Amino acid sequence: MRPKRRKKKLSEVEGRVKRLQKRLAAGGLAGLVVLHRPNVRYLTGFTGEGWLLVRARGQPRIITDPRYGMQAQEEAPQCALDVVSKGYLMGAAHRLSRTRSGPVGFEGDYISYTDHKRLQQNSKGCRLKAARRLVEELRWIKSEHEIQRIRAAVAVADQVYEDLAPRLRPGQTERDVAWEIEGMMRELGAEKAAFPTIVASGPRSALPHAIPTDRKFGRRDQVKLDFGAVVNGYHSDMTRMVFLGKPTKRQREVYGLCYEAQQAALEAARAGITAAELDAVARDVFRRAGCADAFGHGLGHGVGLEVHEAPALSARSQATLEPGMVVTIEPGLYFEGWGGVRIEDLVVIREDAAEVLTQASKVEL
Ligand code: ZN
Ligand code: ZN
Repeated sequence: MRPKRRKKKLSEVEGRVKRLQKRLAAGGLAGLVVLHRPNVRYLTGFTGEGWLLVRARGQPRIITDPRYGMQAQEEAPQCALDVVSKGYLMGAAHRLSRTRSGPVGFEGDYISYTDHKRLQQNSKGCRLKAARRLVEELRWIKSEHEIQRIRAAVAVADQVYEDLAPRLRPGQTERDVAWEIEGMMRELGAEKAAFPTIVASGPRSALPHAIPTDRKFGRRDQVKLDFGAVVNGYHSDMTRMVFLGKPTKRQREVYGLCYEAQQAALEAARAGITAAELDAVARDVFRRAGCADAFGHGLGHGVGLEVHEAPALSARSQATLEPGMVVTIEPGLYFEGWGGVRIEDLVVIREDAAEVLTQASKVEL
């Protein structure tokens, strides 16, 4: 009897490379040049700068420079390594020029026109072909291990909100509060803020992506707080509204509509619904109220190693939601001169429902 060959258990990153290699083979590609840093990290664990060459079979190869050589060995011992001093592009071209076995893909979304031409010129004999979203579409389904990391990032932001929101007062400035939020996140263990914190008060809350200013909060202002933390490379993203005085009639109406739209989308979110359908669930609430024009952005986006990643939840999206996707649900209404409201939660798509990760309390008017 022949002894059974024991299969080595693959690590999480090795399993990802295997899945990518299956996609390469299915797409007729002999390999892929991975340029986007979060993609390199996802496939290898390497967090420094560099490119990655994944062939349809065999060990992936990191191409980096002397600043990151040791780090790459430490973080990604399973990979082959080229430490080059003439740039990643020339390092990759050197390896590619020996490839004769069919087209090699490159991440066309992340290379400049000039570099693409240089790569082609220097990869003699290798046929290069632009490939899109090969790694992104692996990344959009999260493992439970990744979801745990996202949960940790969500917990930091949740706690900051609960500590900070009751202390907001007229007279504070947007910039001071944004700085305080970012400091609190660091103290609670975040590596950094997931993106520049948004604190937008009064009429400035009409800017969906407002940059905090020295504006002082007024007595009956609404304050929009949109922020997130990074823990172990994974991001969180949440938006809450704080009303500094007794909410006015219009504040109640606008907030109430956003709340209703968000609840409707949270309840409809599950595996099998398309991103466009889910976007329409929230948009329809606004349409019935005659204010769909004031909702100028998509319903949400994927979150993981990047704060904005695939899939996009919008009317134009082609994606269908699948178990393990982690997305935001963030309807908003914005009225120039008056202000805006947005409520944003992070959810995991499950078979029959969405599991809401964000636990921060929400004003209920
Ligand atoms: Zn946000
Ligand atoms: Zn968001």
